Amino acid sequence: MKPNINTFTPDQKGNVSINKISSLPSKSKITVVGAGAFGGWTALYLLRNGFQVTLIDAWGAGNSRSSSGDETRVIRSTYGANEFYFDLNVRALQLWKENQQAWGKQFFHNSGVIWFCYQDKNPIVDDSIPFAKKHQMDYEYLSPNEISRRFAIINKEDLHHAWLDPFGGYLKARESTIAVKEAFVKEGGSFINAFVKPGSIGSTQLNNIELSTGEKLTADVFLFTCGPWFSQLFPEFLSKTITCTKQEAYYFGVPQDQSAVFDQLPAWIDLDGKDFYYGIPGNANRGFKIGVDKRGEIFDPTNGERILDPQVLADARKFIQHRFPGLKYAPLVESRVCPYENSPDGNFIFGNHPEATNTWILGGGSGHGFKHGPALGEMVANLFRDGGEVNPLLAISK
Ligand SMILES: Cc1cc2nc3c(=O)[nH]c(=O)nc-3n(C[C@H](O)[C@H](O)[C@H](O)COP(=O)(O)OP(=O)(O)OC[C@H]3O[C@@H](n4cnc5c(N)ncnc54)[C@H](O)[C@@H]3O)c2cc1C
Repeated sequence: MKPNINTFTPDQKGNVSINKISSLPSKSKITVVGAGAFGGWTALYLLRNGFQVTLIDAWGAGNSRSSSGDETRVIRSTYGANEFYFDLNVRALQLWKENQQAWGKQFFHNSGVIWFCYQDKNPIVDDSIPFAKKHQMDYEYLSPNEISRRFAIINKEDLHHAWLDPFGGYLKARESTIAVKEAFVKEGGSFINAFVKPGSIGSTQLNNIELSTGEKLTADVFLFTCGPWFSQLFPEFLSKTITCTKQEAYYFGVPQDQSAVFDQLPAWIDLDGKDFYYGIPGNANRGFKIGVDKRGEIFDPTNGERILDPQVLADARKFIQHRFPGLKYAPLVESRVCPYENSPDGNFIFGNHPEATNTWILGGGSGHGFKHGPALGEMVANLFRDGGEVNPLLAISK
């Protein structure tokens, strides 16, 4: 399988075996390991479906080593011809809104998402347009003149056009990940702060997990949602399937007299076909955020030092100076090194451990998983409740 070069359109799958899941009796004991966007939301929806759920994390929900520990994440429906992710995002958006309202908080910021297109045809956006119409979430076509009229601070000289998705925007990542864990505990879930090692495997079952506290825990089902740590946790099984790469995000300080102008820009994605820069101007007052979607070097999420690569930073700076000339002298005010957990084809992974029928893996967020957390969590919880077939797109491919 060819490696996925960017997060915007996961590849379509070849032939894969279909994973079936049996419905579990209500009140079954499920232990979820990892309280990031995938584990936290799934634990919450399992709990809401009547299971007894324990959630465990080594360093806490939204910790700085995790993928979900950055300040903000883009939320957008656009996924090329891939309707599964489009629909998953539509559901996720609804659940983000419902949950934040119930908790009296704001995580979703409806800034819109603008796609910078260099050519007439851009399948990543064009192929999603029919899905947008179907959901009455139409995108707006912006000619170069229209870009200037609406967003004067964008340099449109090398752009053919832009598409504006007015329904997308950004999410507060770290803050919402912590809030999900807090809601989970408030609604009756049990949270443990400990590092987990899988115990021995019997004939077809994982017997238990071992905690750094010395305790051993049993459960009817173990669900591992360990983001970039999977290849360390299950090296024999997942070391080639989920690779962790070092990604960088920069936060630039906007000019003091133009903060409102920059903050009101939509989140943006640049389709240059090589670096795939993206950014979040408003970014919850942290600065004008720019990220590079190009895969970085292989990274150890536990012991890797979070030090920036000067060349990647210099290139990103050059790009924003070009696209947003008003940021020519913008200082770097914050930065973050964050791990991607890449699956081979950019699709998420939800599958069974090959030797333990009571053990499941949910991961492979591949640089685009955060926004889907609630919908993915709901989907997994419904499958454990009702049984069914896992979408083959999520099968573990080699
Ligand atoms: C720079 C960057 C930009 C991104 N941009 C976007 C974006 O714009 N939009 C979007 O939707 N997505 C984006 N993503 C992807 C998204 O952030 C991830 O897909 C998502 O956060 C993955 O969540 P997770 O729960 O799988 O992993 P994590 O958040 O890493 O959570 C895994 C958790 O497991 C715990 N853990 C691991 N091993 C153990 C163990 N042995 N015992 C106990 N606990 C353990 C960790 O402490 C951690 O909390 C981006 C990612 C990065 C890095």
